Amino acid sequence: MKTAILSLLAIIALALTATVSNAHEKNEAGPNRGRLITSVTPHAEFFVTAERKVQITFVGEDGKPAAPADQVVVVTAGDRAAPTQLTFTKTGNVLLSDTTLPSGNKFPTVVQIKTTPEAKPVYARFNLNMSICGECKNAEYACVCGH
Ligand SMILES: [Zn+2]
Repeated sequence: MKTAILSLLAIIALALTATVSNAHEKNEAGPNRGRLITSVTPHAEFFVTAERKVQITFVGEDGKPAAPADQVVVVTAGDRAAPTQLTFTKTGNVLLSDTTLPSGNKFPTVVQIKTTPEAKPVYARFNLNMSICGECKNAEYACVCGH
């Protein structure tokens, strides 16, 4: 009986997650606790490494990391007047930026993802706040608290 209730709760939780991601009101976190970009399939996790490089991990429908295929990613970050553009190289099972993010914090960031070099680009725009959220302990850019 307890098991049945638990699986029912799991189903409700899944349903709620799906609703939230459609509404784009709250962020989802990826496998490395980065920001999950759900406007592309497979989904892409945006994560800032300790070296201030950007790591993009593609995530399959099972929520597990998937090796990059032919995706082309360009990140534009920093002061709008003089933004920094980051290009990516496949490194192991992820795409890693060739250079580091500009110094500072809380700057506008645009992630352009093309599923193939010829595909129409999909853009994700957000403010890159790398401070740690006190509630979920993710960086604010990947905060899942919905505040
Ligand atoms: Zn949070």
